[in-house]
Amino acid sequence: MPHSIDDPRYPVRKSDAQWREQLSDIDYQVTRRAATERAFTGRFWDHWERGHYDCVCCGARLFNSKTKFDAGCGWPSYWEPAEASLIEEVPDHTHGMVRVEVRCRQCGAHLGHVFDDGPQPTGLRYCINSASLSFAADAPSAGPASPTPQDGQPRTADPGNKA
Ligand SMILES: [Zn+2]
Repeated sequence: MPHSIDDPRYPVRKSDAQWREQLSDIDYQVTRRAATERAFTGRFWDHWERGHYDCVCCGARLFNSKTKFDAGCGWPSYWEPAEASLIEEVPDHTHGMVRVEVRCRQCGAHLGHVFDDGPQPTGLRYCINSASLSFAADAPSAGPASPTPQDGQPRTADPGNKA
């Protein structure tokens, strides 16, 4: 048996009640109960903005839009995690299949599965539930200089530059 999603080895831990409070129902069912959202129903399978995708539970930055591709499967798919050390891969023998489950290493959130039929350069396909992720757009890097001073503040959700 794989270790539990609430295993004490995860640095970010909350009670079941706290997770329920923090997360929407579908986000909770997927991340804390290893459910799978229905294909083509999630918020990100057809989402192509530039930015990064973070763990909906703990905010760890898990995937970049640069590595997102359309696998045609109805879930957001990436060929590489943003940082391999933030992802945990766990053998999964449920549903009569041998698969590799992908979890957030910070909080144990169930994210999805990784398969070896992805595109180059890695040949991997991280098939992830939208419900496990939240998205943050990249700050525009080129383009007209912003009058807002960038005095070392952490980047937040792009204030005052909405079209
Ligand atoms: Zn997490």
